[in-house]
Amino acid sequence: MKNFAIEKLVRKDLSQLTPYEPEVHPGVVKLDANENPFDMPEEVLRAINLKLNTGVFTRYPDPLAAELRQKLSGYTGVKPEEILVGSGSDELILNIIQILGPGAPIAVVTPTFSMYWVHSLVVGAKPLAVPRRQDFSVDIEELIRVTENQNCKAVFLCSPNNPTGNTTPPEDLAELLKRVNALVIVDEAYIEFGGETAVPLLQEYANLVILRTFSKAFGLAGLRTGYLLAAKEVVGQLLKVQQPFNLNNYSQIAAAAVMEHLPLFQSRINLIIEEREILFNELKKIPEVSAVYPSLANYIMFKTQKPADRVFKELLEKKILIRNLNSPQLPECLRISVGTPEENKLFLKGLREVLS
Ligand SMILES: *Cc1c(COP(=O)(O)O)cnc(C)c1O
Repeated sequence: MKNFAIEKLVRKDLSQLTPYEPEVHPGVVKLDANENPFDMPEEVLRAINLKLNTGVFTRYPDPLAAELRQKLSGYTGVKPEEILVGSGSDELILNIIQILGPGAPIAVVTPTFSMYWVHSLVVGAKPLAVPRRQDFSVDIEELIRVTENQNCKAVFLCSPNNPTGNTTPPEDLAELLKRVNALVIVDEAYIEFGGETAVPLLQEYANLVILRTFSKAFGLAGLRTGYLLAAKEVVGQLLKVQQPFNLNNYSQIAAAAVMEHLPLFQSRINLIIEEREILFNELKKIPEVSAVYPSLANYIMFKTQKPADRVFKELLEKKILIRNLNSPQLPECLRISVGTPEENKLFLKGLREVLS
């Protein structure tokens, strides 16, 4: 075919999407993606290696990840049939929107993690921003009103929220769950670092979905492993759209090994929380830092007197990569992921130099 033009064949609405391109800068102090800064414990690596055999490579994985779900059941107190694993929680976000379908209005409590919006557009659903208050708390009455008026089929709410760091109390979530005829997805990607989990609400509300991940507190970002907790009827619907064998053998083995070594991770989590508090206090002491937002996660959002674009660029010249959030929704905001004590000192030193 001469003059073949792919744009003529693809969905017209794809024109509003651009491929996801994270910043790639080899050799920098990487504090931009909220990853776990610590090495995987040797003991866990050994446990994973002991499980490796030829079948891990040549055979399809267990499509239901029975062993991992059993361990997650022990960790969360939720029954295995109310747990679904995914290739990162990103995949589960896509699956949730897929069962609601093209055209479905989806409420997204903003500013927040971008994937709820992106995957809504991928499916052809209709994302709808419901902004937080000035202090980033959620106006639950307003959220209920919008969800009802717009017939939203789902509400995405992140707690602790990425990137603002604040949480939504379970009482507010209960009110929302009680009054809307929609799935309420509470993204608890950072729950190991702080905040109160919504898990106890699962018993009462069949419309609650809790998203979790191994990418942050458990250091498996490279192995793409997430899970969700929901009523078994919801899990049953999600299984219809999920790719069979979505979670590979290696990831299943590694996540199970993490669950078997929780105390090792807990001490690292405690260290990250301590470092978060040190970073927060140090940022507050810098006169040119104009705002620091309290966080219950493993990152901190802040603003400086100097324009965010310049601070980001000048830190990068010093080989320190943070996240530039500067946008109409979060004007002049930056986000720093909590690193190791050494990395955090390098960041603070670099920031002081850039701002002075
Ligand atoms: C990092 C992050 C995720 C992504 O988790 P994966 O399991 O790595 O896909 C989900 N939600 C929020 C809010 C995040 O910040």
